[in-house]
Amino acid sequence: MSAEQIKNVVIVGGGTAGWLSASFLAKMMGKLLNITVLESVDIGTVGVGEATIPPLQHFNSAMGIDEAAFIKATKATIKLGIQFEGWGTQTSCYMHAFGAIGKDFPFCEFHNHWLHAKQQGNKSDFWDFSLNYQAAKHHKFAKLNAIPGTKLPGISYAYHFDAGLYAQFLAEHAKSMGAKHITGTVKNVHKDKISGNVVSLELDSGQQVQGDLFIDCTGMHGLLIDKALNTGFEDWSHWLPCDSALAVPSEHCDEQRAPYTRSIAHSCGWQWQIPLQHRIGNGLVYASKHLSDEQAKQLLLNSLPAKPLAEPKLIRFRTGRRLKQWHKNVVSIGLSSGFLEPLESTSIHLIQTAIVRLVKLFPYQGIEPTQVALYNQQSKIEFERIRDFIILHYKLNQRDDSDFWRQCQNMEIPQSLANKISLFERTGKLLREDDELFAEVAWQQVFIGQGLRPKQLHPLVHALSEQQRAELLTSLNTLIQQSVERMPSHEQFLAQL
Ligand SMILES: Cc1cc2nc3c(=O)[nH]c(=O)nc-3n(C[C@H](O)[C@H](O)[C@H](O)COP(=O)(O)OP(=O)(O)OC[C@H]3O[C@@H](n4cnc5c(N)ncnc54)[C@H](O)[C@@H]3O)c2cc1C
Repeated sequence: MSAEQIKNVVIVGGGTAGWLSASFLAKMMGKLLNITVLESVDIGTVGVGEATIPPLQHFNSAMGIDEAAFIKATKATIKLGIQFEGWGTQTSCYMHAFGAIGKDFPFCEFHNHWLHAKQQGNKSDFWDFSLNYQAAKHHKFAKLNAIPGTKLPGISYAYHFDAGLYAQFLAEHAKSMGAKHITGTVKNVHKDKISGNVVSLELDSGQQVQGDLFIDCTGMHGLLIDKALNTGFEDWSHWLPCDSALAVPSEHCDEQRAPYTRSIAHSCGWQWQIPLQHRIGNGLVYASKHLSDEQAKQLLLNSLPAKPLAEPKLIRFRTGRRLKQWHKNVVSIGLSSGFLEPLESTSIHLIQTAIVRLVKLFPYQGIEPTQVALYNQQSKIEFERIRDFIILHYKLNQRDDSDFWRQCQNMEIPQSLANKISLFERTGKLLREDDELFAEVAWQQVFIGQGLRPKQLHPLVHALSEQQRAELLTSLNTLIQQSVERMPSHEQFLAQL
């Protein structure tokens, strides 16, 4: 590969991936690089992607973004977790709440104590010990690093925002740090005949855009990584069966905006509800093999919380990942690099980790094959681990109302996931590998929320007497309730900004 210095970076695509990449790169390496964002006004963006997970807070702050300005500009609300309705049995409901639950003891995590207490007849719910869940259900929010007066972790939060406004906000931010912006549609990609590297992009206007490194943020078009370089795709649709979504905004219906996403399972697929300041984002994710687009449209429109504000927009997708997310002098970031599905709001997070990885391995002195291989290996592991967590929700359903759910129950799953389920079922333990995104407490909530109970618990549960355990549970719950009572409402928090 080339040993020439990389100075000119061309980002193709002006969606969330393009502008997030431009902002982060401009902030971290703006003095060393010339950064250009090229986007087509004719093609447009995917227009969804409004729910996030907590690491976005740190990413925004690393880019020098002021939180209040961001919340205001993107009409954002706070997200404390995702409520899963009908994912175990048809009537079950649980939350994957961010943050901690209860209090961990060395070697013996809290869920062991709670499960043991349940076996002894305790009537509490696992989420009675989640500060995030209790705040979410009472529509409360405050920035708390710890539960007051204790060393117990406080609130962990993310945001819901308007995807279009977020891209605009990031565009202004990136441009203020020196990123250049060109509009035009790429009609031809010119490659070097010997190296196969991309050399320039020809726009519909005839303009040629040259670069040393190209970041493909063209979404599902995969213009450079797929169409020009044909790097191949690993299809995961046998594990993640949904391939379509209908998205539609609706008016607000509640006085108090809920600080959590709702994920409501239907007989084929699931519906999202994302409350923003000015509207609710809604969508239905489904498998076209089991439900026609027209049936899906009716199902979505009949289940909206309030009046629709537009016609539902159909989006087809294919779950899986690009085999090489970095190939030659093209790095794919965002939907061009692969897509899992939106169930756990992980796509924007994957954009962040990809751009951080690129900055860490930036080939300033020329592209080294070992760097590329390392980048691709890390992305593969990251995608696979998140994939397993999402498949878990489908696999553990206990619904008997459609072939869709029965097939999900009976499907073969990746061995890595089968091992995790089996370990939890036999011992109550979880193995979080390296820097895997979802922590043990996230897996515990899905296991417990969807009805899987371990056969054994950690022997150190016996380090506490029954009375000590009962006192522990009562005092934790009291601390959480008191803390939630003192918080302002979510609405008040937003109004203060
Ligand atoms: C149904 C659904 C729901 C989702 N929900 C969530 C969620 O809740 N949370 C989350 O984190 N993620 C979610 N995602 C993923 C999220 O939408 C994307 O990760 C995010 O929007 C980034 O998209 P992108 O920038 O890669 O692509 P896009 O938004 O599609 O942008 C592509 C860009 O490339 C440009 N382009 C394309 N072809 C050309 C060309 N030939 N010449 C010039 N420019 C070109 C387009 O103009 C556009 O600017 C969801 C995705 C789907 C499908």
